[in-house]
Amino acid sequence: MELIGGEYQVQGVKLKEVAEQFGTPTYVYDAEKIKKQYEVISQAFGDVNLKIKFAAKSLTNISILKLLRSYGSDLDCVSIQEVYLGLMAGYQPQEILYTPNGVALEEIEEAVALGVKINLDSLSILAQFGEKFGGSIPIGLRLNPHVMAGGNKKISTGHAGSKFGISVYHLDKILDTVKEYGIDVRGLHIHTGSDILDAEVFLTVANILFDVAKKFENLGFLDLGSGFKVAYKEGDITTDMEEVGSKISAAFKSFCAGYGKDLELWFEPGKFLVSEAGYLLTQANVVKETPATVFVGVNSGLNHLIRPMMYDAYHEMINLSNSGGKERIYTVVGYICETDTFGSDRKMAEVNIGDLIAVKNAGAYCFSMASNYNSRFRPCEVLIHNGEARLIRERETMEDLTRKQVILDF
Ligand SMILES: *Cc1c(COP(=O)(O)O)cnc(C)c1O
Repeated sequence: MELIGGEYQVQGVKLKEVAEQFGTPTYVYDAEKIKKQYEVISQAFGDVNLKIKFAAKSLTNISILKLLRSYGSDLDCVSIQEVYLGLMAGYQPQEILYTPNGVALEEIEEAVALGVKINLDSLSILAQFGEKFGGSIPIGLRLNPHVMAGGNKKISTGHAGSKFGISVYHLDKILDTVKEYGIDVRGLHIHTGSDILDAEVFLTVANILFDVAKKFENLGFLDLGSGFKVAYKEGDITTDMEEVGSKISAAFKSFCAGYGKDLELWFEPGKFLVSEAGYLLTQANVVKETPATVFVGVNSGLNHLIRPMMYDAYHEMINLSNSGGKERIYTVVGYICETDTFGSDRKMAEVNIGDLIAVKNAGAYCFSMASNYNSRFRPCEVLIHNGEARLIRERETMEDLTRKQVILDF
């Protein structure tokens, strides 16, 4: 978003006009920003054989999935439903990696039938899979490296108390199971969590993976998951992609030399690709002064954007309607009957009823976690592409709320 001539714009499109055209609340995504982020990652790893698998769960709109495919991305899916969305978006089965957690063998069989790449994350499912398929379907294994990293315990997935992955301490059991059923292990995967800052953490995890990888003879790829941190506010430290890229690619190349084969290196970024590209446009319905604070109540809430309440996430907010206005301190809240604070004690240009308030970093885990709580409609979604705002999901209606209800007569 840029401020030009007193107007906040994306690719020359005024956000105020987007709100006029599509109403509020509305999610707006900037295709150029997504492209730029894609390029940052793809260029950071030099001449390594890199594959980027967009983590679909962060933003599942089919047009966004198609957009990322047009940039060259593959897809990472955590449910069979995401796999179907990916196929609808035009991804070839072999471009889709399916990394479920805690699913039954039936769902994995469905994924096998669709021809997507399979990543297994428990010893019991590995044995069930081996019994059913033997070595006929190549698989990847998700390991748990027992590294505590990430911005918040809820988004850390690689520590000892996490439900994800097969413990690296169970390597002997993994190898026994693989041998018993003749399972064809083509890749190893670790996803340590979200919001990891330090290049050294990625390197630590990579080294754990390299150690384990030596025990497998038929590998084609190593997958380091994701966890890249983006900026949520001015001055935030973010993952230095260039540093991660140069350190990891050097380590990876020397691993490949020792392994005797050039493997593919995979990453599965979600947040890094789409977080900063998204804005939630809302309208101020209420300005309420209390003895303690001044509240701005907007026409959205934790039903549309739950990250502040769920992860204590910081989302910057901007008053789009009063760009040069005097700054005051506000607590911005939603309209849900529940405490749903978007941000406390924020400096913003003076807010009047009817002003448009944009919530930043609304691309990842915002719409995809939205609900109908309080029987509110989920927002529409708009993509700004080639300087043009285009609708990519309609706003819901009463029909969407009632369609699946079975209404009894009394
Ligand atoms: C959620 C998830 C990701 C994406 O994480 P980000 O922090 O959004 O980049 C990648 N891989 C797997 C397996 C995931 O579950």
